[in-house]
Amino acid sequence: MRFSMLAIISLAVLAGCSTASSHQYSAVAVDFPSYDALRAIMGDDDDILMLLPPGVESHGYEPTPKDMIAVADADIVVYTGGHSQDWVDRLLSASDDPPLCFRLIDQVELLSEESREGMEDRGHHHGIDEHVWTSIPNEISIINNLADALISLDSERAEEFLHNADAYIAELEALDEKIRKIVAASRLDTLIFASRFPLLYFVSEYGLEYYAAFPGCAEETEPSARTIAFLIDKAKEIDAGYVMNIELSSALIARTIAEEAGCGVLVFNSMHNITLNDYLAGETYLTLMARNAEVLEEALS
Ligand SMILES: [Zn+2]
Repeated sequence: MRFSMLAIISLAVLAGCSTASSHQYSAVAVDFPSYDALRAIMGDDDDILMLLPPGVESHGYEPTPKDMIAVADADIVVYTGGHSQDWVDRLLSASDDPPLCFRLIDQVELLSEESREGMEDRGHHHGIDEHVWTSIPNEISIINNLADALISLDSERAEEFLHNADAYIAELEALDEKIRKIVAASRLDTLIFASRFPLLYFVSEYGLEYYAAFPGCAEETEPSARTIAFLIDKAKEIDAGYVMNIELSSALIARTIAEEAGCGVLVFNSMHNITLNDYLAGETYLTLMARNAEVLEEALS
């Protein structure tokens, strides 16, 4: 993979340079949060290419040569940024005529990945936490700034882009308000994740506590007996009704912990990627986050 990377980058850069700019500009989203933000502003009719296929666990994703050419050839590339997507940065910096580049991590105030009591993080590199979209106020900043970026590319559609962005933001604000009310009215203020924890921005925004088996982007997904025992004890200690799992992640650990602690399992959607079913059903960041609000109400009750 590493060896061929340079060759592929050169190929992609060449492809980018040799293609005459087309009538309709091309928007490439590397991942689901980027795709959803583009779709919310540009509308459903636009051709937006999402590189990470629905249903694929995002941490195992490696770009194909075709993906790299699509990035080099695009008019705008939207991606989260951060360690797991530094291939996009390298590709764009090698180009003489790079596309407009919009990184979600550049739109918000960043947090560092945390190590919590009981968490499995042997050898894990604690960098910035890149899962910035999981806080609704962050998502609102992303939508606002992306609308400006798109207008700079296509000023003729400024009114349409602003209208779409404003409508989406109004719905996001209502959902944000709803989640704050749920948290304020809840018996518990702690969530227990039997999985990776890509939700640091979410819990920080809403003043929640958490325990988790692994930090945000950990490669490891097999917790030790000690970690499992810790999470079982915590679930019992706070009398949790549920332990949480995230989408596209094995439910085995969550079920084990839940069984021992005498509680249930709920799935919280981090939206790192979207499941194939949700994608085909036309779910969006907004509808998935609305589902999270229901899950949260249940989990904290
Ligand atoms: Zn991640």
